[in-house]
Amino acid sequence: MEKIKRNGTVLFSEYSRGEAVKKALTQSREDILLELRESKLKGRGGAGFPTATKWMIVAAAQAEEKFIICNADEGEPGTFKDRVLLLEYPELVFDGMVVAGYTIGAKMGIVYLRAEYSYMRASLEGFLESMRNDNILGKNICGKEGFDFDIMIRMGSGAYVCGEETALIESLEGNRGEARNRPPYPVNTGFLGRPTVVNNVETLAAVSHIIVKSGAWFQKHGTDKSTGSKLFSVSGDCAKPGVYELPWGTKISELLEIVGAKDTKAVQVGGASGFCIPKSQFDRKLSYEDAATGGSIIIFNESRDILKILKNFMEFFVEESCGQCTPCRIGNSKLLEGVEMLENGKYTFAYMNKLKDLGRTMQVASKCGLGQSSPNSFISILENFKSEIFNSNGGKNGF
Ligand code: SF4
Repeated sequence: MEKIKRNGTVLFSEYSRGEAVKKALTQSREDILLELRESKLKGRGGAGFPTATKWMIVAAAQAEEKFIICNADEGEPGTFKDRVLLLEYPELVFDGMVVAGYTIGAKMGIVYLRAEYSYMRASLEGFLESMRNDNILGKNICGKEGFDFDIMIRMGSGAYVCGEETALIESLEGNRGEARNRPPYPVNTGFLGRPTVVNNVETLAAVSHIIVKSGAWFQKHGTDKSTGSKLFSVSGDCAKPGVYELPWGTKISELLEIVGAKDTKAVQVGGASGFCIPKSQFDRKLSYEDAATGGSIIIFNESRDILKILKNFMEFFVEESCGQCTPCRIGNSKLLEGVEMLENGKYTFAYMNKLKDLGRTMQVASKCGLGQSSPNSFISILENFKSEIFNSNGGKNGF
Protein backbone atom coordinates (compact mmCIF):
# COMPACT_ATOMS: atom_id res chain seq x y z
CA MET A 1 0.00 0.00 0.00
CA GLU A 2 2.89 2.36 0.65
CA LYS A 3 3.60 2.54 -3.09
CA ILE A 4 0.34 4.41 -3.68
CA LYS A 5 1.19 7.95 -2.73
CA ARG A 6 -2.02 9.61 -3.82
CA ASN A 7 -5.49 8.17 -4.25
CA GLY A 8 -7.51 10.25 -6.69
CA THR A 9 -11.24 10.52 -7.09
CA VAL A 10 -11.70 8.15 -10.03
CA LEU A 11 -9.73 4.90 -10.00
CA PHE A 12 -9.35 4.77 -6.26
CA SER A 13 -12.88 5.91 -5.50
CA GLU A 14 -15.12 3.59 -3.54
CA TYR A 15 -15.74 0.20 -5.11
CA SER A 16 -16.89 -3.21 -3.85
CA ARG A 17 -15.79 -6.48 -5.37
CA GLY A 18 -18.24 -7.75 -8.00
CA GLU A 19 -20.18 -4.47 -8.10
CA ALA A 20 -19.54 -3.76 -11.79
CA VAL A 21 -20.32 -7.36 -12.77
CA LYS A 22 -23.64 -7.41 -10.93
CA LYS A 23 -24.71 -4.11 -12.46
CA ALA A 24 -23.54 -5.00 -15.97
CA LEU A 25 -25.54 -8.22 -15.93
CA THR A 26 -28.73 -6.22 -15.45
CA GLN A 27 -28.00 -4.24 -18.62
CA SER A 28 -28.01 -5.03 -22.31
CA ARG A 29 -24.67 -5.32 -24.11
CA GLU A 30 -25.65 -2.34 -26.26
CA ASP A 31 -26.24 -0.17 -23.18
CA ILE A 32 -22.84 -1.10 -21.76
CA LEU A 33 -21.15 -0.17 -25.04
CA LEU A 34 -22.99 3.16 -25.10
CA GLU A 35 -21.94 3.87 -21.52
CA LEU A 36 -18.35 3.12 -22.40
CA ARG A 37 -18.55 5.35 -25.45
CA GLU A 38 -19.95 8.18 -23.37
CA SER A 39 -17.05 7.87 -20.94
CA LYS A 40 -14.57 8.51 -23.81
CA LEU A 41 -12.20 6.08 -22.10
CA LYS A 42 -8.98 5.59 -24.07
CA GLY A 43 -6.46 2.77 -23.66
CA ARG A 44 -4.12 3.43 -20.73
CA GLY A 45 -1.18 1.49 -22.13
CA GLY A 46 -0.01 4.52 -24.08
CA ALA A 47 -1.55 4.23 -27.54
CA GLY A 48 -4.80 5.88 -26.46
CA PHE A 49 -7.19 3.97 -28.74
CA PRO A 50 -10.87 4.42 -27.74
CA THR A 51 -11.84 1.40 -25.64
CA ALA A 52 -15.49 1.45 -26.73
CA THR A 53 -14.47 1.17 -30.41
CA LYS A 54 -12.37 -1.94 -29.73
CA TRP A 55 -15.19 -3.57 -27.76
CA MET A 56 -17.82 -2.66 -30.37
CA ILE A 57 -15.86 -4.26 -33.20
CA VAL A 58 -15.41 -7.52 -31.29
CA ALA A 59 -18.98 -7.48 -29.94
CA ALA A 60 -20.27 -7.19 -33.52
CA ALA A 61 -18.02 -9.96 -34.90
CA GLN A 62 -19.57 -13.31 -35.74
CA ALA A 63 -17.24 -15.98 -34.37
CA GLU A 64 -17.36 -19.27 -32.47
CA GLU A 65 -14.98 -17.92 -29.86
CA LYS A 66 -13.81 -14.50 -28.72
CA PHE A 67 -11.24 -13.46 -26.12
CA ILE A 68 -10.46 -10.64 -23.76
CA ILE A 69 -6.79 -10.33 -22.88
CA CYS A 70 -5.48 -8.21 -20.05
CA ASN A 71 -2.07 -6.88 -21.02
CA ALA A 72 -0.14 -7.04 -17.76
CA ASP A 73 3.25 -7.21 -19.48
CA GLU A 74 4.30 -3.97 -17.87
CA GLY A 75 7.77 -3.61 -19.35
CA GLU A 76 8.21 0.08 -20.08
CA PRO A 77 11.17 1.32 -18.04
CA GLY A 78 9.90 3.39 -15.14
CA THR A 79 6.39 1.91 -15.10
CA PHE A 80 5.09 0.00 -12.10
CA LYS A 81 1.50 1.18 -11.65
CA ASP A 82 -0.08 -1.99 -13.13
CA ARG A 83 1.85 -4.09 -10.62
CA VAL A 84 0.44 -1.98 -7.81
CA LEU A 85 -3.10 -2.14 -9.23
CA LEU A 86 -2.96 -5.93 -9.51
CA LEU A 87 -1.53 -6.33 -6.04
CA GLU A 88 -3.79 -3.86 -4.27
CA TYR A 89 -6.96 -3.69 -6.39
CA PRO A 90 -7.28 -6.96 -8.36
CA GLU A 91 -11.08 -6.77 -8.10
CA LEU A 92 -11.15 -3.69 -10.33
CA VAL A 93 -9.15 -5.39 -13.06
CA PHE A 94 -10.82 -8.81 -12.94
CA ASP A 95 -14.34 -7.37 -12.70
CA GLY A 96 -13.53 -5.24 -15.75
CA MET A 97 -12.54 -8.43 -17.59
CA VAL A 98 -15.80 -10.16 -16.66
CA VAL A 99 -17.77 -7.14 -17.89
CA ALA A 100 -15.76 -7.23 -21.12
CA GLY A 101 -16.48 -10.95 -21.52
CA TYR A 102 -20.20 -10.39 -21.10
CA THR A 103 -20.26 -7.40 -23.47
CA ILE A 104 -18.20 -8.80 -26.34
CA GLY A 105 -19.43 -12.37 -25.99
CA ALA A 106 -16.23 -14.03 -24.76
CA LYS A 107 -16.10 -17.03 -22.45
CA MET A 108 -12.43 -16.78 -21.62
CA GLY A 109 -10.21 -13.99 -20.38
CA ILE A 110 -6.43 -14.26 -20.21
CA VAL A 111 -4.08 -12.19 -18.07
CA TYR A 112 -0.68 -11.99 -19.75
CA LEU A 113 1.45 -11.36 -16.69
CA ARG A 114 4.96 -9.98 -16.97
CA ALA A 115 7.51 -12.74 -16.27
CA GLU A 116 9.15 -10.62 -13.57
CA TYR A 117 5.78 -10.51 -11.73
CA SER A 118 5.63 -14.28 -11.30
CA TYR A 119 5.75 -13.77 -7.51
CA MET A 120 2.21 -12.34 -7.73
CA ARG A 121 0.74 -15.30 -9.50
CA ALA A 122 -0.25 -17.35 -6.46
CA SER A 123 -2.12 -14.47 -4.83
CA LEU A 124 -3.88 -13.59 -8.10
CA GLU A 125 -4.89 -17.23 -8.60
CA GLY A 126 -6.22 -17.22 -5.05
CA PHE A 127 -8.26 -14.12 -5.79
CA LEU A 128 -9.71 -15.71 -8.94
CA GLU A 129 -10.63 -18.79 -6.91
CA SER A 130 -12.50 -16.62 -4.41
CA MET A 131 -14.36 -15.00 -7.31
CA ARG A 132 -15.35 -18.50 -8.50
CA ASN A 133 -16.55 -19.36 -5.01
CA ASP A 134 -18.71 -16.23 -5.04
CA ASN A 135 -20.00 -17.00 -8.55
CA ILE A 136 -18.46 -13.82 -10.01
CA LEU A 137 -16.54 -16.21 -12.27
CA GLY A 138 -17.58 -19.57 -13.65
CA LYS A 139 -20.94 -20.81 -14.89
CA ASN A 140 -24.15 -18.77 -14.91
CA ILE A 141 -22.32 -15.87 -13.29
CA CYS A 142 -24.35 -14.12 -10.57
CA GLY A 143 -27.31 -16.23 -11.63
CA LYS A 144 -27.27 -14.96 -15.21
CA GLU A 145 -28.38 -18.04 -17.12
CA GLY A 146 -25.99 -18.86 -19.97
CA PHE A 147 -23.24 -16.41 -19.05
CA ASP A 148 -20.15 -18.52 -18.42
CA PHE A 149 -16.79 -16.84 -18.16
CA ASP A 150 -13.43 -17.62 -16.60
CA ILE A 151 -10.00 -16.04 -16.38
CA MET A 152 -6.62 -17.73 -16.67
CA ILE A 153 -3.20 -16.32 -15.96
CA ARG A 154 -0.39 -16.93 -18.42
CA MET A 155 3.16 -15.86 -17.76
CA GLY A 156 4.96 -13.52 -20.14
CA SER A 157 8.18 -14.48 -21.85
CA GLY A 158 10.36 -11.70 -20.56
CA ALA A 159 10.71 -9.69 -23.78
CA TYR A 160 9.84 -5.99 -23.90
CA VAL A 161 8.29 -6.37 -27.36
CA CYS A 162 5.64 -8.74 -25.95
CA GLY A 163 3.91 -5.68 -24.51
CA GLU A 164 2.92 -4.95 -28.13
CA GLU A 165 -0.45 -6.62 -28.55
CA THR A 166 0.29 -8.75 -31.61
CA ALA A 167 3.65 -9.93 -30.23
CA LEU A 168 1.83 -10.72 -26.99
CA ILE A 169 -0.68 -12.86 -28.89
CA GLU A 170 2.12 -14.66 -30.74
CA SER A 171 3.76 -15.38 -27.40
CA LEU A 172 0.46 -16.65 -25.95
CA GLU A 173 0.14 -19.00 -28.89
CA GLY A 174 3.53 -20.48 -28.01
CA ASN A 175 5.47 -18.73 -30.74
CA ARG A 176 8.42 -16.36 -30.58
CA GLY A 177 7.15 -12.96 -29.42
CA GLU A 178 7.27 -10.97 -32.63
CA ALA A 179 4.86 -8.35 -33.91
CA ARG A 180 2.45 -9.39 -36.65
CA ASN A 181 1.69 -7.45 -39.80
CA ARG A 182 -1.41 -5.31 -39.36
CA PRO A 183 -4.06 -5.43 -40.70
CA PRO A 184 -5.63 -7.72 -39.76
CA TYR A 185 -5.91 -6.31 -36.25
CA PRO A 186 -6.49 -8.45 -33.13
CA VAL A 187 -10.11 -7.26 -32.98
CA ASN A 188 -10.64 -9.21 -36.23
CA THR A 189 -7.96 -11.91 -36.09
CA GLY A 190 -6.44 -12.14 -32.65
CA PHE A 191 -5.68 -15.02 -30.28
CA LEU A 192 -6.03 -18.34 -32.16
CA GLY A 193 -7.35 -16.32 -35.10
CA ARG A 194 -10.42 -15.23 -33.14
CA PRO A 195 -11.68 -11.68 -32.50
CA THR A 196 -9.80 -10.46 -29.44
CA VAL A 197 -9.83 -7.38 -27.25
CA VAL A 198 -6.47 -6.57 -25.68
CA ASN A 199 -6.74 -4.00 -22.89
CA ASN A 200 -4.23 -2.63 -20.44
CA VAL A 201 -4.65 -3.40 -16.71
CA GLU A 202 -5.55 0.20 -15.87
CA THR A 203 -8.07 0.41 -18.72
CA LEU A 204 -9.97 -2.57 -17.33
CA ALA A 205 -9.89 -1.08 -13.83
CA ALA A 206 -11.43 2.12 -15.23
CA VAL A 207 -14.18 0.08 -16.91
CA SER A 208 -15.37 -1.24 -13.53
CA HIS A 209 -15.87 2.29 -12.20
CA ILE A 210 -17.58 3.45 -15.41
CA ILE A 211 -20.11 0.64 -15.21
CA VAL A 212 -20.94 1.43 -11.58
CA LYS A 213 -20.79 5.23 -11.71
CA SER A 214 -21.61 5.96 -15.40
CA GLY A 215 -19.77 7.27 -18.43
CA ALA A 216 -21.03 10.79 -17.77
CA TRP A 217 -19.46 10.72 -14.29
CA PHE A 218 -16.14 9.49 -15.72
CA GLN A 219 -15.90 12.11 -18.44
CA LYS A 220 -16.42 14.93 -15.97
CA HIS A 221 -12.87 14.26 -14.81
CA GLY A 222 -9.79 15.21 -16.78
CA THR A 223 -9.92 17.17 -20.05
CA ASP A 224 -12.26 16.99 -23.01
CA LYS A 225 -9.96 14.68 -25.00
CA SER A 226 -8.40 12.90 -22.03
CA THR A 227 -11.22 11.91 -19.71
CA GLY A 228 -10.89 10.36 -16.28
CA SER A 229 -7.70 10.17 -14.28
CA LYS A 230 -4.32 8.58 -14.84
CA LEU A 231 -1.99 6.52 -12.72
CA PHE A 232 1.55 7.81 -12.90
CA SER A 233 4.56 5.75 -11.86
CA VAL A 234 6.94 8.39 -10.58
CA SER A 235 10.62 7.58 -10.11
CA GLY A 236 13.97 9.32 -10.18
CA ASP A 237 15.09 12.46 -8.39
CA CYS A 238 12.20 13.30 -6.08
CA ALA A 239 11.39 12.99 -2.39
CA LYS A 240 8.26 10.86 -2.80
CA PRO A 241 8.50 8.32 -5.67
CA GLY A 242 5.53 6.00 -6.11
CA VAL A 243 2.16 5.68 -7.80
CA TYR A 244 -0.05 8.76 -8.05
CA GLU A 245 -3.57 9.07 -9.36
CA LEU A 246 -3.94 12.53 -10.87
CA PRO A 247 -6.47 14.00 -13.28
CA TRP A 248 -5.46 14.17 -16.91
CA GLY A 249 -4.46 17.73 -17.68
CA THR A 250 -2.18 18.06 -14.63
CA LYS A 251 0.83 20.19 -15.54
CA ILE A 252 4.30 18.64 -15.28
CA SER A 253 5.28 21.48 -12.92
CA GLU A 254 2.32 20.60 -10.65
CA LEU A 255 3.32 16.95 -10.60
CA LEU A 256 6.91 17.88 -9.70
CA GLU A 257 5.63 19.93 -6.80
CA ILE A 258 3.41 17.10 -5.55
CA VAL A 259 6.20 14.51 -5.62
CA GLY A 260 8.74 16.79 -3.98
CA ALA A 261 11.15 17.18 -6.89
CA LYS A 262 13.81 19.88 -6.64
CA ASP A 263 16.36 21.26 -9.14
CA THR A 264 14.72 19.27 -11.90
CA LYS A 265 16.49 19.46 -15.22
CA ALA A 266 14.39 17.08 -17.27
CA VAL A 267 11.36 14.81 -17.08
CA GLN A 268 11.13 11.69 -19.18
CA VAL A 269 7.43 11.32 -19.94
CA GLY A 270 6.36 7.89 -21.19
CA GLY A 271 9.44 5.86 -20.24
CA ALA A 272 12.33 5.05 -22.55
CA SER A 273 9.99 5.19 -25.54
CA GLY A 274 8.64 8.59 -24.50
CA PHE A 275 9.93 12.15 -24.67
CA CYS A 276 12.48 14.02 -22.60
CA ILE A 277 11.00 17.34 -21.59
CA PRO A 278 13.20 20.27 -20.47
CA LYS A 279 12.48 22.82 -17.75
CA SER A 280 11.27 25.39 -20.29
CA GLN A 281 8.32 23.09 -21.10
CA PHE A 282 7.24 22.13 -17.58
CA ASP A 283 3.94 23.95 -18.06
CA ARG A 284 2.89 21.26 -20.55
CA LYS A 285 -0.10 19.17 -19.57
CA LEU A 286 -0.05 15.41 -19.08
CA SER A 287 -2.76 14.36 -21.53
CA TYR A 288 -3.24 12.57 -24.84
CA GLU A 289 -3.36 15.94 -26.59
CA ASP A 290 -0.11 17.30 -25.13
CA ALA A 291 2.41 15.27 -23.13
CA ALA A 292 1.02 11.76 -23.62
CA THR A 293 2.18 8.88 -21.46
CA GLY A 294 1.29 5.35 -20.51
CA GLY A 295 2.20 6.41 -16.98
CA SER A 296 5.97 6.42 -16.64
CA ILE A 297 7.47 9.64 -15.27
CA ILE A 298 11.22 9.64 -14.63
CA ILE A 299 12.65 12.77 -13.03
CA PHE A 300 16.25 13.92 -13.54
CA ASN A 301 17.83 16.69 -11.50
CA GLU A 302 20.64 19.02 -12.50
CA SER A 303 23.32 16.52 -11.45
CA ARG A 304 22.36 14.04 -14.18
CA ASP A 305 24.27 13.61 -17.44
CA ILE A 306 21.66 13.71 -20.19
CA LEU A 307 23.89 11.89 -22.67
CA LYS A 308 24.37 8.97 -20.28
CA ILE A 309 20.59 8.79 -19.91
CA LEU A 310 20.14 8.71 -23.68
CA LYS A 311 22.84 6.05 -24.06
CA ASN A 312 21.09 3.89 -21.50
CA PHE A 313 17.79 4.15 -23.43
CA MET A 314 19.37 3.41 -26.82
CA GLU A 315 21.27 0.38 -25.46
CA PHE A 316 17.95 -0.87 -24.14
CA PHE A 317 16.29 -0.61 -27.56
CA VAL A 318 19.19 -2.24 -29.40
CA GLU A 319 18.86 -5.13 -26.95
CA GLU A 320 15.06 -5.36 -27.13
CA SER A 321 14.50 -4.92 -30.90
CA CYS A 322 13.25 -8.26 -32.19
CA GLY A 323 15.17 -7.70 -35.42
CA GLN A 324 12.32 -8.46 -37.79
CA CYS A 325 12.30 -5.15 -39.64
CA THR A 326 15.23 -3.11 -40.91
CA PRO A 327 14.29 0.41 -39.72
CA CYS A 328 14.23 -0.75 -36.10
CA ARG A 329 17.03 -3.35 -36.22
CA ILE A 330 19.57 -1.10 -37.99
CA GLY A 331 18.10 2.23 -36.94
CA ASN A 332 18.48 1.73 -33.20
CA SER A 333 22.11 0.60 -33.64
CA LYS A 334 22.84 3.70 -35.73
CA LEU A 335 21.26 5.97 -33.14
CA LEU A 336 23.33 4.32 -30.40
CA GLU A 337 26.47 4.83 -32.50
CA GLY A 338 25.46 8.48 -32.79
CA VAL A 339 25.27 8.78 -29.00
CA GLU A 340 28.74 7.25 -28.72
CA MET A 341 30.06 9.75 -31.28
CA LEU A 342 28.62 12.54 -29.17
CA GLU A 343 30.29 11.07 -26.08
CA ASN A 344 33.64 10.97 -27.83
CA GLY A 345 33.25 14.38 -29.43
CA LYS A 346 33.62 12.82 -32.89
CA TYR A 347 30.60 14.06 -34.76
CA THR A 348 29.39 16.66 -37.20
CA PHE A 349 26.15 18.58 -36.86
CA ALA A 350 25.20 17.48 -40.38
CA TYR A 351 25.48 13.80 -39.39
CA MET A 352 23.52 14.33 -36.19
CA ASN A 353 20.76 15.95 -38.24
CA LYS A 354 20.81 12.93 -40.54
CA LEU A 355 20.36 10.68 -37.51
CA LYS A 356 17.35 12.72 -36.42
CA ASP A 357 15.92 12.21 -39.94
CA LEU A 358 16.65 8.49 -39.58
CA GLY A 359 14.72 8.55 -36.30
CA ARG A 360 11.74 10.18 -38.02
CA THR A 361 11.88 7.50 -40.73
CA MET A 362 11.88 4.81 -38.03
CA GLN A 363 8.79 6.40 -36.49
CA VAL A 364 6.80 5.81 -39.67
CA ALA A 365 8.52 2.80 -41.27
CA SER A 366 9.01 0.41 -38.34
CA LYS A 367 6.64 -2.49 -38.12
CA CYS A 368 5.52 -2.13 -34.53
CA GLY A 369 5.35 0.31 -31.66
CA LEU A 370 8.85 -0.51 -30.42
CA GLY A 371 10.64 0.84 -33.49
CA GLN A 372 8.04 3.56 -33.99
CA SER A 373 8.68 4.99 -30.53
CA SER A 374 12.32 4.12 -29.80
CA PRO A 375 13.70 7.25 -31.58
CA ASN A 376 11.53 9.58 -29.45
CA SER A 377 14.14 9.97 -26.73
CA PHE A 378 16.96 10.49 -29.22
CA ILE A 379 15.10 13.17 -31.16
CA SER A 380 13.71 14.98 -28.12
CA ILE A 381 17.04 14.99 -26.25
CA LEU A 382 18.98 16.25 -29.28
CA GLU A 383 16.42 18.98 -29.83
CA ASN A 384 15.80 20.01 -26.21
CA PHE A 385 19.27 19.70 -24.68
CA LYS A 386 21.50 21.00 -27.47
CA SER A 387 23.70 23.18 -25.33
CA GLU A 388 24.49 20.39 -22.85
CA ILE A 389 25.03 17.68 -25.44
CA PHE A 390 27.09 19.61 -27.94
CA ASN A 391 29.30 21.16 -25.26
CA SER A 392 29.75 18.01 -23.24
CA ASN A 393 33.22 17.42 -24.70
CA GLY A 394 34.60 20.84 -24.01
CA GLY A 395 33.84 21.95 -27.54
CA LYS A 396 36.09 19.38 -29.22
CA ASN A 397 33.27 18.40 -31.51
CA GLY A 398 33.47 17.98 -35.23
CA PHE A 399 35.97 16.12 -37.40
S1 SF4 B 1 9.79 -2.45 -34.96
FE1 SF4 B 1 11.48 -3.51 -33.92
S2 SF4 B 1 10.48 -4.82 -32.41
FE2 SF4 B 1 8.90 -4.18 -33.91
S3 SF4 B 1 8.89 -5.76 -35.48
FE3 SF4 B 1 10.36 -4.25 -36.18
S4 SF4 B 1 12.34 -5.00 -35.38
FE4 SF4 B 1 10.74 -6.06 -34.24
